[in-house]
Parts: sequence; C-alpha cells; structure tokens
Amino acid sequence: MGTSHRQAPIKNLVAEIQNGLLELFGNPSGYEIALGNGGSTAFWDVAAYSLAEGPSQALVHGEFGAKFASALAAPFLDKPEVIQAEAGSRKDLIGRAGIKTYVYPQNETSTGVIAPVKRVAADADAIFLTDATSAAGGIAFDALETDVYYFAPQKNFASDGGLWLALLSPQAIERVEKIAKSDRYIPEFLSLKIALDNSRLNQTLNTPALATLFLLNEQVKYINSSGGLSWADQQTRKASALLGDWVRKTSYVDFFVKDESQRSQVVVTMDFAENIDAAEIVKVLRQNGIVDTDPYRKLGKNQMRVATFVNSDLADLEKLTKAIEYVVERL
Ligand SMILES: *Cc1c(COP(=O)(O)O)cnc(C)c1O
Repeated sequence: MGTSHRQAPIKNLVAEIQNGLLELFGNPSGYEIALGNGGSTAFWDVAAYSLAEGPSQALVHGEFGAKFASALAAPFLDKPEVIQAEAGSRKDLIGRAGIKTYVYPQNETSTGVIAPVKRVAADADAIFLTDATSAAGGIAFDALETDVYYFAPQKNFASDGGLWLALLSPQAIERVEKIAKSDRYIPEFLSLKIALDNSRLNQTLNTPALATLFLLNEQVKYINSSGGLSWADQQTRKASALLGDWVRKTSYVDFFVKDESQRSQVVVTMDFAENIDAAEIVKVLRQNGIVDTDPYRKLGKNQMRVATFVNSDLADLEKLTKAIEYVVERL
C-alpha cells in the first residue's frame, strides 16, 4: 500500500489530507491540522497532558462527554467542573472567571444530542475543546468558535479507525508550546507538541495505518468537490429528516431527544412503545444483514439508534424504515 511514512508518497498523502481538511473547515487563519495514532480516545489523554491547564469545565450528557471529563481528572490537573444533564438532553457551558479549558462533545453519539460550536464569554487565555468525532465532516460550523476541533475518521469521513486529527487555533498552539516548556511530565505518545512538530512535516510520530489515510483523503476530496461542508450538512439533514418524518407518522416510535434544537442530524435515536421489543427488531435486522441499529448499550432503553452520516444513502434509510415495519408486523 505504500512506502515508509517518512517518504514522499505518504507525506504527500498526509499533506493532501491536511490541506483538504483546512479547505473543508474554511481555511481559518493561523489554524493547523495535527494528527497522530490512537483515535479520539487517545486524544482525550493528549488533551489532558498537552492542552489542559487550570480549572476546566466539561459538558457531560452521555458516554463520550463523560469519558473526556474523566480524562481531565488526571492527578496533575484541578478537578474539572462537570455540567451534567440527563441523557437525551444537554446543558450549556457557563463562562466563569478562572476557568482555562472548556470541553464538550459536539455530537454526543451515545444519545444523539447536539451542541453548538460556540464560545461563551470567558478569560482571554481560556481555550475551547470540541470532541467532533461523529460530527466532523457532517455538520457545518464556524472554526473560529473553537480552539481544538478533534475527531477520528471512522464516522462522517467514512474511513477506518485508529487515527486522531485536530484542527488547532493559534491560541491552542500557544497553550501546547507553553505546557511543553513547563515541568509537567508528558509521555511522548501524549505530547501534542511532538505530534504538531511531526504534523508540520506531514508525518506522524509513529507508523500510521495507510489504508485509513487513503480512505480519509478520498472522502475529504469527495466532500470538497461536492460542495464542501455546507453540502455535507445538507446531506445529513436530509438523511435525518427522512427518519424524522417516519418517526412522526409511526405510532409506535418517538424521538428520544425531545428538544428539537438539541436533536442530532447525524445520529437518530428512536424510542419504541413498551409493547414492542426494540432489541428483538435489532436482532432480526442483524440476522438479515442490516447491522448496527443498536441503542447505546449502557442506557438500557427500548430504542434503536441509526447513524445518518454524509454517505448514508437515502434509499437505504427508506428501506430500513420498511424493514422495521415488516419486522414489527410479525413480532
Ligand atoms: C466514536 C466517538 C469517540 C471514540 O472514538 P475512537 O476513535 O474509537 O476513540 C469519541 N467521541 C465521540 C463523540 C465519538 O462519537
């Protein structure tokens, strides 16, 4: 599939991805794309070691937000202030003097709740970190409204896992440089400074999965040539609206996320009436090759959860609703 990742063919591929992503995100002035191995889960620890400083504040309303908040509970950091909300809803960040790091998931994938990428009034040296893993590439946003917009390529970017990518603002880069110079112990693998130095050379610290890079690049090119992020945003809106229309007209399903303004366009979570066993539907669908409609397991609710990413085919989603109806009639 390729040569050494320190030779031109792979470095050129990485450069094309970096430039393509900057174009997709509107070429915000001074922002850079860094990347490294380990997926978004690794980036939580990268963020704790290389970006977090002072007291932080975290929005938690599901599994992924909770994991990010717990990474920030590292012993060398101040205990984060957690703004907790019921699964299926969310609260907002609260700007406070003294808080230096604000973190939240843009799309809480476990529930299908979306948050705006928006700064709140905060200290001049505070930074905002957006876990955009399931949102990036599928939802339009203003990059100037955040400092670290990080994700992995296995969702809207239709690639494989194992890689993290982060759009970094000049202020985030300043924070990285400052912490790297401090006496904090930072494992090499969790050093964003080392990742950034490598990224500037279109490399990663250690060997990346080349197929992941290849597939990611193809998807970025596809989105950019189709009309960019606003086009991608329309695609996911259409896909989620198709399922939403079905939910509205179907007596035995309802939206899990009650507040429409918090309802995701990339993950649709549907509650089923008590007399219908959603787990049984999911099982029958899986036996027939329609996979991954499972709800988030730890919520333990009578639900189905469906991704409506950029590449979700409308005809496939239509067929899914028909398949659910077919199974329900025969339960
Ligand atoms: C999928 C997902 C993750 C985890 O990504 P990995 O690459 O598997 O670590 C983190 N945050 C959100 C919001 C996700 O959707």
